[in-house]
Amino acid sequence: MNLNKLLIYEIIPQETPYVIRNCSKCKRNTEFYCSEKFRVNANQKIVDIWLIYNCLHCEETWNYPIISRVNVNKIDSLEHQKFMNNDLETIWQYAFQINQLRKLCHDVNTDIRYELRKDMLDSTSDGITIKIRCKYDFGLRVDKFIAEIFNISRSKVNKMVQDDMFLLNPDISVKKKIIDDLQVTVIGDWYKAML
Ligand SMILES: [Zn+2]
Repeated sequence: MNLNKLLIYEIIPQETPYVIRNCSKCKRNTEFYCSEKFRVNANQKIVDIWLIYNCLHCEETWNYPIISRVNVNKIDSLEHQKFMNNDLETIWQYAFQINQLRKLCHDVNTDIRYELRKDMLDSTSDGITIKIRCKYDFGLRVDKFIAEIFNISRSKVNKMVQDDMFLLNPDISVKKKIIDDLQVTVIGDWYKAML
């Protein structure tokens, strides 16, 4: 049983990732931002849906294909409404499909701004477990995140992991990206001066 203090960090992105692709107007690779709008095209009962991106420099459009040539009856009506209404949560789910976007673009810039919402569930224990909530995956690495919240270098984090001063649950490498609900238990009380 884990009686540690639980410190919850929620990672909240402040923007969607830019995609990098060739712009036919700029005639070079440029950054395209997500317009946060779907384009829905219905021809008879056949539906196409794209998420619209625009070149940062000239506003040239690129359409990210979401649904291609699908019969409208095959699309969940609630989901269809979300596309029609440009539902922001649905848009963000697609805008954070980094792997899929990388297949269609030159690259995806995941170096985005995010905020941390911190919530401490107190207990009398000296031990502390950090729980990380991250609804949108943008490839943030565990060691980078730990380094940030303790304000220490990434190499120091790696050294401390080798010395068993951080225990991860599930037990993934700190070089991997953060997964939702990852827990990091801090061994010792050195952290008290750092958080
Ligand atoms: Zn352009």
